[in-house]
Amino acid sequence: MRKKNVSKAFLLILLAGIVYACMEEGDFLSSKRSLPPEVSAAQKWYESQTGGEDLMWKSVDGNETNTFTPDWTKAFWNEDKDYRVTEVHLIGDERLVFLASECADMYQSTGDERYNASDIRLVIRTNKETKETDGFIMILFPDLDYLEKNRDHPLVDMSYLKRNKDFGGIIYYHDMEGNFVNGWKYTEGVPYAIYPAKEVEKTSDGPLRSTTYCDYVCVTTEHYVDWYVNGDFDHTQYKGTTTSCYYTNCWTDYSDSNSGGYGGGGGGSTNTGNTTTSPKAKKIFRNSNMTQANWEKLEKMIDKIMQDCMGSALYNGLVDYLGGKTLTIQFGTKNEFTYDGQTAGIMLKGTESNRLFHEMLHAYQAYNETNAAADIAASINNEIETRYAQYLYVSSQPEYSGSTWEKEWTTKQGRKEIAKLSHRIDSHGKLKPGVTEDELNLYIVNDARSALQVPGSVYANDPYNYERIGTANFKNLNKLTKDC
Ligand SMILES: [Zn+2]
Repeated sequence: MRKKNVSKAFLLILLAGIVYACMEEGDFLSSKRSLPPEVSAAQKWYESQTGGEDLMWKSVDGNETNTFTPDWTKAFWNEDKDYRVTEVHLIGDERLVFLASECADMYQSTGDERYNASDIRLVIRTNKETKETDGFIMILFPDLDYLEKNRDHPLVDMSYLKRNKDFGGIIYYHDMEGNFVNGWKYTEGVPYAIYPAKEVEKTSDGPLRSTTYCDYVCVTTEHYVDWYVNGDFDHTQYKGTTTSCYYTNCWTDYSDSNSGGYGGGGGGSTNTGNTTTSPKAKKIFRNSNMTQANWEKLEKMIDKIMQDCMGSALYNGLVDYLGGKTLTIQFGTKNEFTYDGQTAGIMLKGTESNRLFHEMLHAYQAYNETNAAADIAASINNEIETRYAQYLYVSSQPEYSGSTWEKEWTTKQGRKEIAKLSHRIDSHGKLKPGVTEDELNLYIVNDARSALQVPGSVYANDPYNYERIGTANFKNLNKLTKDC
């Protein structure tokens, strides 16, 4: 983590459209077969609604329009307990492919078609109980993280009803008049809403008030038209590029109306929210905008942490320090513990419990410092302790052996040097036999510290407190493991 004042964290994801969309052919019907009854019924409904005309579509900011035609030969359907859903591939009069900029870069540098994966679908949904049917346009495209892990068939497990649980990327919904309805940015399966930038700027009330913090997403669309001569494809014409921007992952900080004061290391406000579900998470965290599903994910992570002796002490220790107050929590684009002397909170990327453990330990450290200045002055010392405790936690998990975590802790700079602290101190942060305080301190300063503070890294300029010698850097770990 890095400590910094609360500010708008801008994530710029440039998205570009590229010439050609690879369909997941295997997922759709072969064109020769007759349509299944569910797809035929969806087609009939569509024709009754539109008179068979093409669908108009407007970009999120309303500045661009296009026309889409459903290709009924490329359709599939599925169902859950509430809905029957047919999805149909849409063909645009201009070819639009939405692409994260890093995917576009990779495509341009490698020529690998697999990087320009995106899909535009018409979704027709029937409620099983009420028999009501509605329809909308779904546009989905992965981010590079997700694409690297699912290179060959990135969207094959993605349907309206069933998402790959690790999906990373964007999904937009437009109604059948083409108007933007809503959009979601997924990070490792966790969705958070996107809002058109002008809408956020206009809004001074409600959930998007001035104390709301957001990431920022820009989408660039490139437009191409295919020309046909006497029915045969002739050439593709590039028509230009447009860019639209959104806020995403917005979260509201109500601390200004509920000042908690910095105290021993972190502020907070009293949580008056419903704690009947996810009770452990809601005892220490608040976020008025977080979905039920995300609260449940958080609760699961805490359950896992509490199965660990040190983790259980950490959770209970934080509960004691907070004394009924809460830390802000949000899922976002990075792992970070942040405070500004008044409020304290955690941002998490994904749902790995050891990441949450790490950030919770930063909060615990902050409460154990005499004041905020002392905590900041020992930023790197604290990061070393946090990483070492995280290593102890993650390496004791049954799935650690052979995992990507093991690879990270044995090969990655800034992690492997921390893991090697286990040659000198034990799981309580105490010296191992034959090791002196001086020798430990030399290792911490020369190896662990310098592995974090490489020039240009986010830690390069953070303070290290040289007066904190040897095992004095592990006093929180020692306290948390006294009964372990
Ligand atoms: Zn950290």
